[in-house]
Amino acid sequence: MRLSQMLFVTLREDPAEAEIPSHKLLLRAGYIRRIGSGLYAYLPFMWRVLQKVSQIVREEMNATGAQECLLPQLQPAELWRESGRWDTYTQAEGIMFALGDRQERELGLGPTHEEVITAIARDLIRSYRQLPVNLYQIQTKFRDEIRPRFGLMRGREFIMKDAYSFHPDTDSLDQTYSAMHDAYCNILRRTGLAFRAVDADSGAIGGSGSQEFMVLADAGEDEVLYTDDGHYAANVEKAVSRPADALPSAYTAYEKLQTPNTPTIASLCEFLNCSPTQIVKNVLYQATFDNGQAVLVLVNIRGDQDVNEVKLTNELTKLAPTYGGNTVIALTVPDADQQKTWAAKPLPLGYISPGLADDYIQPTANLAPKFLRLMDQTATDLENFVTGSDESGYHVVGANWGSEVPRPTTVVDVRTAQVGDRALHDPSQLLKSARGIEIGHIFKLGTKYSQALGATYTNEQGEDLPLVMGCYGVGVSRLAQAAVEQSYDKDGIIWPVAIAPYHAIVVVPNVTDADQMAAAEQLYADLNAAGVETLLDDRDERAGVKFKDSELVGIPFRVVTGRSLKQGKVEVVQRADRSSQELALADVVPTLKQWVADALNA
Ligand code: ATP
Ligand code: MG
Repeated sequence: MRLSQMLFVTLREDPAEAEIPSHKLLLRAGYIRRIGSGLYAYLPFMWRVLQKVSQIVREEMNATGAQECLLPQLQPAELWRESGRWDTYTQAEGIMFALGDRQERELGLGPTHEEVITAIARDLIRSYRQLPVNLYQIQTKFRDEIRPRFGLMRGREFIMKDAYSFHPDTDSLDQTYSAMHDAYCNILRRTGLAFRAVDADSGAIGGSGSQEFMVLADAGEDEVLYTDDGHYAANVEKAVSRPADALPSAYTAYEKLQTPNTPTIASLCEFLNCSPTQIVKNVLYQATFDNGQAVLVLVNIRGDQDVNEVKLTNELTKLAPTYGGNTVIALTVPDADQQKTWAAKPLPLGYISPGLADDYIQPTANLAPKFLRLMDQTATDLENFVTGSDESGYHVVGANWGSEVPRPTTVVDVRTAQVGDRALHDPSQLLKSARGIEIGHIFKLGTKYSQALGATYTNEQGEDLPLVMGCYGVGVSRLAQAAVEQSYDKDGIIWPVAIAPYHAIVVVPNVTDADQMAAAEQLYADLNAAGVETLLDDRDERAGVKFKDSELVGIPFRVVTGRSLKQGKVEVVQRADRSSQELALADVVPTLKQWVADALNA
């Protein structure tokens, strides 16, 4: 392609709308344009990058035996009602764009495709002989993200590869899951990204199997906890660890003490001169289920620990049936306005005890009349601890479960693992923290969707069983931007060769010089003919502008038909390390061909 014929516009200044380097660079270098909140046009260079990423994904998926298809983006509401997700996705989480057609039928724009694919499996899969199968597509997804940001990282319309597999049993699922794991490692290796596969939250339904593929970058929205020995890495939402040991309590007798102005753990520790590990902290939450029922949740946790709301939501989802619901649609720490809707009398905030009486709740039709009391593991073994007294300005010390304080029967793990915690597999390994961009997620779904939609198969014994499913996503457009976030310098993007829009650019410093143009035209034709995807910068611009642009756009190899042409040579510059050398004209094509091949096979 000749730059003189392209819509090629670069910006000198950083656009105000962009916060992170990759977003700024993609805008400045003319890869993307913002059309609306979370909506971007992929301009020709970007589209080439996206097609290259897609092709790598496609090749690695095909190598596992998965089959490509394309499913409708407009999805009937009925399917989502069958899975029970219509209300949560259109109202509670509100992530799905919903619309009506002229016959007043309701439709959603696909944020994901479990329902559609399960409906197909229900119709077409009859027998164990058809299993396992794995279908995938590469397609635009729509999600009404509450906070679209960082360009393609979190868009409202973005490209995803999503795959869904169907199995007779979990052994078969495990095999495909592990093949997907390997395929994702290959994809990331080939696209040249530094990454880590981490244990991920799989909500309340998923058992053991869910991993996220994190591209490591400071701008990442996720926190990853890992150990240096390489044996543990998890999203902080899911991470487990061994907390620091509690210090023995200094109190031996149960007593109620006046502790004025100590509503926080820090102020209480200072006042009593005790360790937060000797305190039982009682955190109040308000959870609402999909049927509109709400419950007040009192979590007891050791004073130096924090509640992980993802883990808490999972525990509450397991308990949802007790309240007639299926899922949790909201979890908040009730503020003053929320408290007003149910508190029968003012709460002893900052001084709440694990035994806070249920008569603080003014029962209503939509609110459970009793607190749901959950004890985090960290609080179970404490002895002679300090905790609230339900009276403002007072705490109790030397308290024990079962005697002075009623012991909650439901023990859960809802603590947030922290940097510096000891790892479970080896206490000498301490957890470290890194930021990550989630570019892929593989997930053992089990039978949640097949059961809901009635997708069954007949096994060898003639029994009808629900299909066992897995699903596997890659954010294609997010991956492309993550590559930039991991590889740039002050002058612009440094694309990995495998996903660069072009491999090489031939720059003509002076287009009015007939020799320069002739040599450039020849190289341009020969390089392309040899499979080196090459641009020709034949614009009537100053040489300096052209060099700056080629660096900003990040093309891996630059060939300059400049002064040394008189000696039959051209300058060849590598974008990544700026190394430059003079090559005889005849050596340019074989050398670049070799460099590209080396990079693609690295
Ligand atoms: P996140 O936690 O970042 O919101 P998710 O867990 O909702 O993502 P999945 O449903 O697992 O995402 O989707 C599969 C992949 O699609 C993700 O791993 C991510 O790479 C990509 N993705 C998800 N949401 C977006 C988005 N709004 N914009 C761009 N890519 C996205
Ligand atoms: Mg995910």
